[in-house]
Amino acid sequence: MTDTTLPSSTAPSADDFRRLPLPPAMLDNLQRLGYERMTPIQAASLPLSLAGQDLIAQAKTGSGKTAAFALPLLLNLNPRRFAVQALVLCPTRELAEQVTQEIRRLARAEDNIKILTLCGGATMRPQMTSLAHGAHIVVGTPGRILDHLGRETLDLSALNTLVLDEADRMLDMGFAEDINQVLKHCPTQRQTLLFSATYPEGVGKLAGRFMRSPQTVKLAEAH
Ligand code: ADP
Ligand code: MG
Repeated sequence: MTDTTLPSSTAPSADDFRRLPLPPAMLDNLQRLGYERMTPIQAASLPLSLAGQDLIAQAKTGSGKTAAFALPLLLNLNPRRFAVQALVLCPTRELAEQVTQEIRRLARAEDNIKILTLCGGATMRPQMTSLAHGAHIVVGTPGRILDHLGRETLDLSALNTLVLDEADRMLDMGFAEDINQVLKHCPTQRQTLLFSATYPEGVGKLAGRFMRSPQTVKLAEAH
């Protein structure tokens, strides 16, 4: 036992994951991953996002934004329903792969959650075959996601969580129109979470078009 120095009656601190309405298996998994405390963006956003709110969250790179959207996304998921229930849009393949890895680690407490990464640059056919086998979560770049939607190899009718990760970079890279088109394929009844390292005007405009009374959480740059 290493924690005998801690008084056993101590209430969880403000940044303790145990303050959140997370299932015990999820809390155990976070502990196994070495996530002892919430990062500031997690502590500020998770109480809102886990309550089902749409959210705009801004915090610098490396601040733990992935877990901040992955936990609500996973809690919204019904693992017994084998349909795409969550979509995460990312600007690049590298980022999509990192996000997929992090969601996989966080989803370990749940059995059999299937995550697919769909990015441009890879050939279509294997992606189409994977989609035909089904998935719970899709992570990908806007252009390739739109391509699959156009071919009807991806069906978002069961979607309940939409995440725009690195929204500022996606706009910089000229994905605004692709994102607009993808949105047309998403059910309006859903939770939308937008994450960004910076908050230029374009991000606010984008959010205004498709979010429902979003809560905004912005963390100032550390000095
Ligand atoms: P961002 O998307 O804000 O750039 P990431 O989500 O990629 O940041 O997280 C950065 C790193 O911090 C990752 O290696 C992630 O596993 C780790 N991390 C995230 N949340 C926590 C936490 N609560 N405790 C410890 N490490 C964390
Ligand atoms: Mg990130």
